[in-house]
Amino acid sequence: MIKRVSTEAIIIGAGPAGAGTSIYLTKAGIPHIVIDKASFPRDKVCGDGCSGKTAFVLRKANPQWLDEIFSMPQSFMPSHGIIMVAPNGRAINIPYKPNRHPDEQAPGFTTPRMVFDNFLFEKLPSPYATIYQNANVKSITRNSDNTVTVSFSQGEDTVEVTAPLIVGADGDKGITRKTLMGEYFSHKAYTVGLRAYYEGVEGLHDENFIELHFLPELLPGYFWIFPMPNGKANVGVGILSSRIRAKKINLREQMLKAIENNPNISQRFKNAKLVDKIQGWGLPMGVEQLPVSGDNYLLVGDAASLIDPFSGEGIGNALYSGMLAAYAIEKAVQEKNYNAAFLKEAYDGPLYKRLGNELKISTSLQKLCRFPWLFNLIANKANKSPELSKTISFMFTDLNLRDLFRKPSFYAKILFNR
Ligand SMILES: Cc1cc2nc3c(=O)[nH]c(=O)nc-3n(C[C@H](O)[C@H](O)[C@H](O)COP(=O)(O)OP(=O)(O)OC[C@H]3O[C@@H](n4cnc5c(N)ncnc54)[C@H](O)[C@@H]3O)c2cc1C
Repeated sequence: MIKRVSTEAIIIGAGPAGAGTSIYLTKAGIPHIVIDKASFPRDKVCGDGCSGKTAFVLRKANPQWLDEIFSMPQSFMPSHGIIMVAPNGRAINIPYKPNRHPDEQAPGFTTPRMVFDNFLFEKLPSPYATIYQNANVKSITRNSDNTVTVSFSQGEDTVEVTAPLIVGADGDKGITRKTLMGEYFSHKAYTVGLRAYYEGVEGLHDENFIELHFLPELLPGYFWIFPMPNGKANVGVGILSSRIRAKKINLREQMLKAIENNPNISQRFKNAKLVDKIQGWGLPMGVEQLPVSGDNYLLVGDAASLIDPFSGEGIGNALYSGMLAAYAIEKAVQEKNYNAAFLKEAYDGPLYKRLGNELKISTSLQKLCRFPWLFNLIANKANKSPELSKTISFMFTDLNLRDLFRKPSFYAKILFNR
């Protein structure tokens, strides 16, 4: 049987990007349909690190949600900073908030995606949201009356949903981008990552700083250890796919080699146990400001290639883009205008105004990682200079300061100790 439904907006994908869009569409009172091929709770290969941007979008949606998150230490682990380990093994500790009051809520947290995405998914039901799970979208068709029809099966039935707007929140390999993006169909810059859960990793930071180890053999990628709830750690590697191809790197071997042989890492794993399979997935990086909308559609999260090219952070950008997409849809519905020019102004504009500069800086930082001596230089000096250490901390929250990383004068000052 074919079931036909119509609505204002269809969201394909209920990960952070789709959930963010739905939550903010509900706030705006706009009827919409969310479709996901998985059944929640579902896993997603990830480092499981959530930053201040994730916290910002959640707090803005509902201030109580973060209190809820921090009241469940068995599921969500507060994190107060990052440890960056330079190629020479020197570490720089970067607290997210160097002058933090001891009672202040942590700026970030880690949590298994199985838990976090389900937390978001449970927030979706509302009088404005109809949710289909276990529903794999098979086709997207443009209609002559300025609408789009999405088709999927549910048990014995085929469901066809028609709306003037569709939101592609279907991640890295989604169908929306493939069907609607024409020449921009493939992601320009791509990293491949592996994730493994371990128990018993030693030497984790007291305040659960996440660790990025820029090992020479992985540059400009890195090996990570993120402390997780219940004594676990999320451990992984991410490398540019172009480098994997060029150097014929076996990512799994590379990761296990670091765990077994790297002098800074291997000791900490001597009593550790792998507790899940090692799994891989792609990270579409935001290295270029490509279009993220067109006639009758918007792309959010990984479908829009919004992962930070330096840190690999994509959850915060997925949620943020979902929020901005919902604002744009609200305008489009008010004006009954769903064409490419209108959506570009209402969505691409604000999105790149907020994230564009940050992504540009991170693209430059990623390129700088090709010069390990520069990284070593900063790590050596930061270890000796509390002042420089503090400046680097502030760089993480202050975009103008972070831009200093791109300027030769910054390195000259460090080099000549001024
Ligand atoms: C190894 C690795 C480590 C990472 N580490 C971090 C980290 O520590 N911190 C961080 O912030 N980011 C990290 N990221 C990036 C982060 O995982 C992504 O940016 C984030 O998941 C993007 O969210 P999304 O909602 O756009 O896509 P997804 O989370 O992928 O969700 C897409 C949804 O769409 C659904 N879907 C797909 N196709 C269809 C279809 N045809 N029909 C219906 N539904 C469909 C899927 O089932 C899925 O639920 C990492 C990524 C990888 C691969």
